[in-house]
Amino acid sequence: MLLAGGLAGCEAAYQIAKRGIKVKLYEMKPKKFSPAHQNKNLAEIVCSNSLKSNLLTNACGLLKEELRKLDSLLIKCADETKVAAGQALAVDREKFSELVTKNIMNNPNIQVINKEFTNILSNNYNDVITIISTGPLTSEKLSEQIAKLTGEDKLYFYDAAAPIIEKDSINMNIAFWGDRYSQEKKKDETIEQWKNRLLKEEKNYINLPMNKQEYEIFISELINADIVEPHKFEKKEIFEGCMPIEVMAKRGIDTLRFGPLKPVGFDDPRIGKRPYAVVQLRQDNKEGTFFNMVGFQTNLKFGEQKRIFRMIPGLENAEFLKYGVMHRNTYINSTKLLDQTYRLKINRNIFFAGQITGVEGYVESISSGMVAGINAVNLFKKQSPVIFPNTTIIGALAKYISTPNEKFQPMNANFGILPELDKKIKDKKERYKKLAERSLINFINI
Ligand SMILES: Cc1cc2nc3c(=O)[nH]c(=O)nc-3n(C[C@H](O)[C@H](O)[C@H](O)COP(=O)(O)OP(=O)(O)OC[C@H]3O[C@@H](n4cnc5c(N)ncnc54)[C@H](O)[C@@H]3O)c2cc1C
Repeated sequence: MLLAGGLAGCEAAYQIAKRGIKVKLYEMKPKKFSPAHQNKNLAEIVCSNSLKSNLLTNACGLLKEELRKLDSLLIKCADETKVAAGQALAVDREKFSELVTKNIMNNPNIQVINKEFTNILSNNYNDVITIISTGPLTSEKLSEQIAKLTGEDKLYFYDAAAPIIEKDSINMNIAFWGDRYSQEKKKDETIEQWKNRLLKEEKNYINLPMNKQEYEIFISELINADIVEPHKFEKKEIFEGCMPIEVMAKRGIDTLRFGPLKPVGFDDPRIGKRPYAVVQLRQDNKEGTFFNMVGFQTNLKFGEQKRIFRMIPGLENAEFLKYGVMHRNTYINSTKLLDQTYRLKINRNIFFAGQITGVEGYVESISSGMVAGINAVNLFKKQSPVIFPNTTIIGALAKYISTPNEKFQPMNANFGILPELDKKIKDKKERYKKLAERSLINFINI
């Protein structure tokens, strides 16, 4: 049984059906629509029509290549309905959904039932292998049931995430380590003693100092930047919860200097004085290779985030592993609840797939549908699970969402989630090329 016919669900249904097993696919459209869905077809693309880069030196490009090797229906349909978009794979969204729908509807092993599914807890489904892929806008009734099923008080409802940056791309000639107050030079310390103490101190935060001119130019660009308008249904709750950085900046030139960019408790080691403002970066993964921008939840368009945040001294060459987003997003705490095959630990007949698992993005959702679909079949046939190597993006994503992490946030495909290469390569393009080569060599074809 499969709930429901979005990107992840259609991929999973196809993978199961092509292995000769019957699937019942419940999809609430066209009887009921989420606030972002409008089209009666399956696999609706709700926002941008881009499935991102096709280049192998881009993690999402590599993920698509891995999915092509696994005979992904959705990537095949995307390739067949693509529109000109340079190195990116962008699709004609209507044609894409139509083609996926045709493939699913014409498949003799798939029965589509247009109905909102609301009762996952019913005893009738205890022995039925089920994949739940109802997406970031899962209907309310089912969300309540999923919360009960997973034993959680509630699901996460909003993804208000700040950008995440690759540590190696930060200019450490400008940036400096240290926590607020303990980093500051003490009155009785010489410069030498201060610098020696800083070298020994615990390294939690990276700080980016700004002078007055740099700060003012940054604020001016920030308040004039292009933003993604939130949907009507998102506006109220997002603004109550946590305010986007650009909205804060619009409240007055000094608002950020007295808020997330306050310089109190820091001295810039280059000048031995308190900077005018400080952007803080907080460690985001165990290995210390990802850092998030503290307080930078934002609705800026991705291109604008890259342009404007790179104006912050020390971030001129920053690589963004993930851009900031603020949108309604229902997802479960997969790091606690799922294993690497997207299977629920406390109910072994249930899998989750798609954005509801905390993978972020169209292609990432398709990839989890692929893994859950293949493994649902293996469970049905009483065969061993298929775990993709963590040197592949499909495997690394599955590992990421199923590894304990108190700061769990939805994650898109990026090279930072892969294990490092045996030999360190400084040049980024060369490093990505080698990571892609390793992934394709290690890839297991099913
Ligand atoms: C507003 C918004 C904009 C986004 N923009 C982008 C973007 O530009 N680029 C990007 O890469 N990602 C984007 N995402 C993130 C994500 O990649 C997409 O949401 C993607 O479609 C997720 O795929 P999915 O299969 O998990 O869910 P979906 O594609 O949303 O499919 C879920 C399906 O479940 C159905 N459903 C829900 N509840 C029930 C129920 N109880 N019973 C039966 N059917 C049900 C829905 O009708 C829907 O068809 C966006 C997300 C949102 C919410």
